[in-house]
Amino acid sequence: MPRGAQSRSLPRLGSVSPSASIGLGSSCARFKKPSRSYADEGPIPIAASRPPRGDPSTSWSSSATTVFECALLSPTLRGIWRPQTRTDMISQQVKLADVRVEQLVAPVHLGEGPHWVEEDQALLFVDILKGNVHRFFIESKRHQVLHVENGGSGGSVSLVIPVEGAPDLFMVTVGRSIGVVEWKHSDPDQHTVKPVILHTVDGHCKTNRFNDGKCDPSGRMWAGTMGYEKMPGQVELHQGTLYRLDSDLSLTLCVSQVSISNGLSWSEDRRGVFYFIDTCAFSLDAFDYDSETGDIKNRRVVFHYKSSGLTNDLPDGMAMDNKGRLWIANFSGQKVVCIDPKLGRIVRQVDLPCQNITSVCWGGSHYDILYVTSAQTGLSKEELEAQPSAGAVFAVTGLETQGLPPTNFKTDLNVLRKKIETAKP
Ligand code: ZN
Repeated sequence: MPRGAQSRSLPRLGSVSPSASIGLGSSCARFKKPSRSYADEGPIPIAASRPPRGDPSTSWSSSATTVFECALLSPTLRGIWRPQTRTDMISQQVKLADVRVEQLVAPVHLGEGPHWVEEDQALLFVDILKGNVHRFFIESKRHQVLHVENGGSGGSVSLVIPVEGAPDLFMVTVGRSIGVVEWKHSDPDQHTVKPVILHTVDGHCKTNRFNDGKCDPSGRMWAGTMGYEKMPGQVELHQGTLYRLDSDLSLTLCVSQVSISNGLSWSEDRRGVFYFIDTCAFSLDAFDYDSETGDIKNRRVVFHYKSSGLTNDLPDGMAMDNKGRLWIANFSGQKVVCIDPKLGRIVRQVDLPCQNITSVCWGGSHYDILYVTSAQTGLSKEELEAQPSAGAVFAVTGLETQGLPPTNFKTDLNVLRKKIETAKP
């Protein structure tokens, strides 16, 4: 049995213990006991995946979390979302056959930003607070780790995206900066690099750091920041910003007053709609998206977590499948939910063997494998012992769904390489 291909009993979703610790690695400021949870109505009947195959004696027990209250939704958001009823959920029940969850690599501290590299059949991801970028080759199981040095605004690395047409160049966000690094297949498996910084942002709040980011279908890079996290679960609200880096390397401010800038996605027609998650708003939001200019407008709520009964879960990273559905990692919720934004409700769910699920991407030769990152942050010593796979990357197979390939950053390579040459000592 592959390490981590553990079988477990399905947890009672949303059960709440008043004495539980707060398992939040990236969340918000005020905490309170929820007034309602799924536990009030018994186990939720939607599309729970079958526990992964493996030794049935290896089970993982659910760890309850306290729910927190943070940013209120802006009244200016025009919602198309509506509360999900129990009947809705039952009508969406899907029995998943042979869904399997397999652990790929040893746990890291705060895994995030998975990105599939088709040419290499490899998965990139980051370990944010350690400042490391990982590259795992699926066939050979070679595992390269690149440590990115502090570029002057903090040592965290929150995303890694290949530069189109340059297999040795990668965009990264380091602290409050956007940079580029050179990283070759021939580099040692443990390697350190100094980033070439292109932009440093959020001068108004120097304790901010970049968080999630992704390229749009035209190859522009979008990345957002979050407020200072004094300790896991306590973030300064509304201090972050979502930015867009265009092919000419100019930077545009797209959304301000973000608390934790997280998941990003574009509609399956690769134009028309941009989806965005500010974790502390507890919602999946949509904007009209102009694929020609990259401009966004008309923000509205598509799905609201707390009002839909997901009172323990924090929406984090997400990825689009080829049917236009969004697969969203639920931090503190030990699962990935699939939301159909046209219906405004959950249509499928995959349970995972650890609590803090951070992001997802599609990969594999047919883009039918969902790669899922997770985190150890915010877990107590006891919770970590109970969740030995926390922080690992998982491969979910058998979903009978295909996702959309990721887009790399598109730019003038001559301009970018010149910047790198100029920065060399
Ligand atoms: Zn995230």
